[in-house]
This record gives sequence, structure tokens and C-alpha cells, in this order.
Amino acid sequence: MFIGHFAVAFLLWRLFPSVPLPVILVSVSFPDLLWSLLVPAGVEKVRINPDSALQKLIVFEKYPYSHSLVLTNLFSLLVGAAIAAVLNNPLVLPIFVLGSVSHWILDTVVHLKDLPILGFNGDRKVGAGLWKRGPLSFVVEYAFYIIVTALVLSGLSLVYALILGTVFQLINLPSFISSNRKNMAKTSNGYAGLALVGFGAFTIIASILI
Ligand SMILES: [Zn+2]
Repeated sequence: MFIGHFAVAFLLWRLFPSVPLPVILVSVSFPDLLWSLLVPAGVEKVRINPDSALQKLIVFEKYPYSHSLVLTNLFSLLVGAAIAAVLNNPLVLPIFVLGSVSHWILDTVVHLKDLPILGFNGDRKVGAGLWKRGPLSFVVEYAFYIIVTALVLSGLSLVYALILGTVFQLINLPSFISSNRKNMAKTSNGYAGLALVGFGAFTIIASILI
């Protein structure tokens, strides 16, 4: 999931405006940002299909540190505490963890049954697998983004957020809908790099415009 996470960031920002938006954008991206570093480091494993961009064909073999409910959010607690200390804003800590937890919860809607709960060996894995129904998944994520964003933002911020979400969702279209298009990423490291660029770009552009 991509833009859906950012809809939650806008919601959290509306509820807790004293927490800077860039911090909240990073919090909802935290699991994927961590993952994009741990894959090239060889700590977490993903298998892509170079012949297809479809999200359902990507196998997340191992990602307990970045995508488990418990272990990942012990890390988000540490990072949130560090940012809260730097900004001298205690509210940053719970909101950062909440943003990161929201990522895991939204991921359970679309991912196949590969998301660990604890993050330790012998773990139970969850995922409702909406990605198996690509076009439906595209519509559900887009509608979720539009509705939540329209409820919590207004004026020019809303306009920019709607444009930004639409552009990124369209860039992501090949990951939802079967086509002859090959995967833009040729290796798992390339795929992790694309995720880093995507989350980084959205976070920076949204921080400037909204
Ligand atoms: Zn994720």
C-alpha cells in the first residue's frame, strides 16, 4: 500500500496539529523506509517478478524487523522518542508510534498472508490479500485516500493533496492491473530503492505543499 498510508498521516495531523506534518509523514512510512534499507543490507528478503509489475506476485519472504506489529513498533518507539527529544515535543512519541502502527494495520488489508505479528521465529502471519484482486484494490485504496483526505484537509492543501495522491496512484497503476509491462525493478534491491524514492518523494513534496 502506498497513498493509503498518507491519508492516515493527514488525519493524524488534523487531530494533532502540534506535531509537524513531515514527522507524521515519516511515521506512516516508517516500516517501508526501514524495509527499503534492510533489503539491500541483506537482513530482510523479498522476491520480485522481473516480468510483471503486479504487486500480488511479489513475495515478501522475510521482513520481521520492518513489518511486524510488535518488533517494528519497538523500533518506532525508539525513533519516535529520539525525534520527540530533538523537537522537545513529547506528543511526537505516541503519534509517531501510532503512525507506524497504522501502516501495519493498513498493510494487513492488501498484503497476502505474510505480515508477522510478533516479529520473532515461529510467528503467526496475517494479511487479507486484497492485492489478489488488483483493480478492486486500486479503487479501494484510491477511494480511501480521497475520502479521508477530503474530510480532514481544506482549501489549497486539499487540492494539492488530491493531485499528489492521484499522480502517485497512477504511477502505481501497473502494480494493480495486468499488462504487458515488465517490472521497473529488475532486482529486489532495485525494488527496495524504488520504494525509498517513492515514499521519500511523496513525503518531501507533501511537506512543501501542504
Ligand atoms: Zn509496508
